[in-house]
Amino acid sequence: MKVTLLTHTPDPEKIIAAAAKLCYSESGVENILEGLDEERCEKFLNMLMSLGHQSPIEHVTFTFGIEGVSRSLLAQFTRHRIASYSVKSQRYVKEGMFEYITPPEIENNEKAKELFIKTMEADQKAYDELADILYKKHYATLLAEGKDEKTAAKMAEKMAIEDARFVLPNACETKMVVTMNARSLMNFFHHRCCTRAQWEIRDLADEMLRLVKEVAPTLFKKAGPSCVAGPCPEGKMTCGKTLAMREKYLSEAK
Ligand SMILES: Cc1cc2nc3c(=O)[nH]c(=O)nc-3n(C[C@H](O)[C@H](O)[C@H](O)COP(=O)(O)OP(=O)(O)OC[C@H]3O[C@@H](n4cnc5c(N)ncnc54)[C@H](O)[C@@H]3O)c2cc1C
Repeated sequence: MKVTLLTHTPDPEKIIAAAAKLCYSESGVENILEGLDEERCEKFLNMLMSLGHQSPIEHVTFTFGIEGVSRSLLAQFTRHRIASYSVKSQRYVKEGMFEYITPPEIENNEKAKELFIKTMEADQKAYDELADILYKKHYATLLAEGKDEKTAAKMAEKMAIEDARFVLPNACETKMVVTMNARSLMNFFHHRCCTRAQWEIRDLADEMLRLVKEVAPTLFKKAGPSCVAGPCPEGKMTCGKTLAMREKYLSEAK
């Protein structure tokens, strides 16, 4: 998995502090950024967090480039609706030998790995054969409809891939660009840094958190699974590791 913080709102903590200052002081917009040094920004951010006043943190966004993740991760990630996603399309990109993600438990088990690789190869073969069968059918139909050879070939390939991709597996590698504001990111970390989240999206969430902490350490100092800043919300399903999780995520913030 490769995760890059492509860009973010400049001076994210200052912008949030400015929004807080507007809410809680006499300041007007013309002098909103004045005097917002590191110390005052931290004071405003801590105040917002202690009040649970979260809307000012929506003013800053973070854009990530993500690759080397599975379509299985994509399905989970895009459940987070307060975000913008641009994902490599399987509809227009013909897979060569498609790349795939191997779960560590499979990678480290010889028998499982052998079966997994065999299945990936069989999927690729089925995909290629389906694409070929469908291409020939569409190409002939399009020619019969009066399309020229070049147009028919281009259209037929797209139409064939569109249906052949149905046999591609959850393991198939994908790439995406994702933008989230800080409030939505906090919610994402609450859900996905939790030990109950699945390993791949948890690895992704941990890496995204590490990257945003580099540029906004005060804002994200208590970010992580819900149990870092409050009680565990998992009830009977709790992993019982609240103290260890606090130790992990709060010490990383120092
Ligand atoms: C461990 C784990 C297991 C899961 N298992 C399943 C599962 O078995 N099946 C399944 O379908 N999903 C499952 N999910 C996905 C989960 O239910 C959420 O869809 C996902 O985590 C996105 O969270 P969200 O809705 O808070 O995020 P976002 O969509 O980004 O929403 C952010 C917040 O905005 C508010 N919001 C957004 N849309 C609405 C709305 N329409 N109405 C009211 N408020 C809204 C809510 O307060 C929400 O928390 C699982 C998630 C985790 C972490």
